[in-house]
Amino acid sequence: MDGPVLVRRAAAAVLAAAICGWLSTFAPGAGRAELTAAHGRGPVQKTPKRPPEPPEPPPPDCARAKCVALTFDDGPGESTAELLDILAARKVKATFFLIGENVVKRPDLVRRERDAGHEIADHSYTHADLGRTSKKKAFSELTRTQDAIRQASGYTPVLLRPPYGSTSKRLTELTRELGLAQVLWAVDPVDWEHRDTGYVERRVLKAVKPGDIVLMHDIHPTTVKAVPGIIDRLAGEGYAFVTVPELFGGRLIPGEEYDRRNSGEAQGLP
Ligand SMILES: [Zn+2]
Repeated sequence: MDGPVLVRRAAAAVLAAAICGWLSTFAPGAGRAELTAAHGRGPVQKTPKRPPEPPEPPPPDCARAKCVALTFDDGPGESTAELLDILAARKVKATFFLIGENVVKRPDLVRRERDAGHEIADHSYTHADLGRTSKKKAFSELTRTQDAIRQASGYTPVLLRPPYGSTSKRLTELTRELGLAQVLWAVDPVDWEHRDTGYVERRVLKAVKPGDIVLMHDIHPTTVKAVPGIIDRLAGEGYAFVTVPELFGGRLIPGEEYDRRNSGEAQGLP
């Protein structure tokens, strides 16, 4: 009987050694840090190697899932970096409608938005009222912004949010020619007027329905501070956060207007 017991003990010892070795590959510095701390020296400087991040799951099918698209206009600005940290900590993807003249001032933030997997889009170069301007001026506003975003990030936007939601037949033709779908919104907490974090949070949470596009501004610190509460509450209600193209399954047509996923389509199924 001793033979098999010894073999089992030997096997257990090998297994334990293997597990220790395996664990140490995940936290090679942890044991040393404890040791040095016990001897009254500072923490070990060398950072341990992290295991690679798992691949991101594919976006949900918004014909069935309870989706919402958070969108942020007028940046990049002073609060954009803080917002990107908030979104990253919660693994939430959003859509940024950028002002061309702000893009050239902060190309680093535009690159960061794109690298984090957010959708970046056109909101004109000078926040112009595109629905009431000449075709020539509208063309310049759009193409200069497209060029600035491309230069900052390597990506050419496929979405336009006309400032003030102001569009026209002429602008629709132009966006069709330039390959831009027009994105409006379903929920507007009027955060540019109400610089009040609690108000913005309550107003979005009260109004939002599955399939909605929510309009906010990342240039207002009060709005950015409302975002964690909005995300945490909606996530608790089973919402999935998607970019605007993801909300429509990637099927957006240049020139068409979008403010929510069609109410005729199945939404929020269990
Ligand atoms: Zn705007």
